[in-house]
Amino acid sequence: MPQAKPTMKKILAVSDEIVTIIHSPQILELYGDVDVVFGCGDLPYYYLEYITTMLRADVIYVYGNHDGVQLKADGRKIDRAEGGILIDGRVYRHHDVLLAGLGGSIRYNDRARNQYTEREMFHRMLRLIPGLVLNRLRFGRYLDVLLTHSPPFGIHDGKDRAHIGFKTFLTFMRYFKPRYLLHGHKHLYRRDINECTTYDETQVLNVYPSRVINWGED
Ligand SMILES: [Zn+2]
Repeated sequence: MPQAKPTMKKILAVSDEIVTIIHSPQILELYGDVDVVFGCGDLPYYYLEYITTMLRADVIYVYGNHDGVQLKADGRKIDRAEGGILIDGRVYRHHDVLLAGLGGSIRYNDRARNQYTEREMFHRMLRLIPGLVLNRLRFGRYLDVLLTHSPPFGIHDGKDRAHIGFKTFLTFMRYFKPRYLLHGHKHLYRRDINECTTYDETQVLNVYPSRVINWGED
């Protein structure tokens, strides 16, 4: 399957936890050359807004299971990052890179927002299919990157109810063969662990709490 020859080469992906150095002017020294930023959920919107403003790079993101309405410093209530591009539940093209987003986690309590049963996530995937097929017709491939919050079932997921991954994502990778599936949700407590797993033709990467991806090298 033809791969994208993207104009973007360096991606900064973030999720779940604020990285102090990213949320500081040092971001420019460390990440001033990133072409685009991906957010995998459970982050304050002000953090995403800070990153997009400082780097002058688009922030494309999905919701995590804890995302909802947040209060801004000026008292306004917002449910998305201003200046960010929310692609949860949709197919999106960023220059020559084809993305889709499936945020949220497995349902583990009765909070309504951003939790899904396996069946609900499967139906969310089905709703992406027209856009993916259109990509295939226009560009010769379904997509390059699937942005999620939760990991796939059996890959980097946890045993407890809130951290079980989605089987739907395995099905998705087998059919649509994204180059990357980027997720968060699973916190790592040791810095020397690099969660990167190849499944079918996809690199599954846990980006918690931040990760640089050099397109094609990971
Ligand atoms: Zn989460």
